Amino acid sequence: MTELLFRGDAYLKSCRATVVGLHGDAVELDRTVFYPMGGGQPGDSGRIGELRVADARKGEDGERVLHVLEPGAPSPMPGTPVEIEIDWERRYHHMRLHTALHLLCAVVRAPVTGGRIAEDKAHLDFDVEMEKLVKDEIEAGVNALIAAGHEVRPRWVSDAELDARPELVRTMSVAPPRGEGRVRLLDIPGIDLQACGGTHVANTREIGRLIVVKIRSEGKRNKRVTLAFAQ
Ligand SMILES: [Zn+2]
Repeated sequence: MTELLFRGDAYLKSCRATVVGLHGDAVELDRTVFYPMGGGQPGDSGRIGELRVADARKGEDGERVLHVLEPGAPSPMPGTPVEIEIDWERRYHHMRLHTALHLLCAVVRAPVTGGRIAEDKAHLDFDVEMEKLVKDEIEAGVNALIAAGHEVRPRWVSDAELDARPELVRTMSVAPPRGEGRVRLLDIPGIDLQACGGTHVANTREIGRLIVVKIRSEGKRNKRVTLAFAQ
């Protein structure tokens, strides 16, 4: 099981770690700052020592992070201590846009059917009528929440607490991950609360001004709203 340092501090850019295993072209470490692809957020890229990491994925059991090396890279020996670092600029864009999607959830009051984050844009799909999605209103709503400087904080609740407080699941688009007896929630107090294992900024102001670049129907239950940085 990989120790997930980004869970406690999403702003960690580097750390020391030890190689514990190799899986084809992927390196397993005892601890990591690399976010593995999941929840619509891409996996981090970066480096392990001098080796380029192209992507980070979850292992099959979901408990490990696999650091996928660029093709042709030599494999480090298990037991080797290494210095690792993520491509921070790319990750920070993911964090800002990921947090923005939580705000979008709060502005568009409809069930979420999907979503994806890229470095320069992000979208959510809603189960809602097209005429309820007004570009200018959504853009103004999201930017007002950004400018208000709301605090963003992860917290954990027990499975039992979640079951006892069904209002916590109201805005969730997917069933929360279970199994450890606790569930990670992302809380923007008074704005949005939902199960989320991703990385976020600490204050909505860090997102910066956004624009709604597109609202498009992707099917009966998928009306897609795409956000991008204003400049
Ligand atoms: Zn999130």
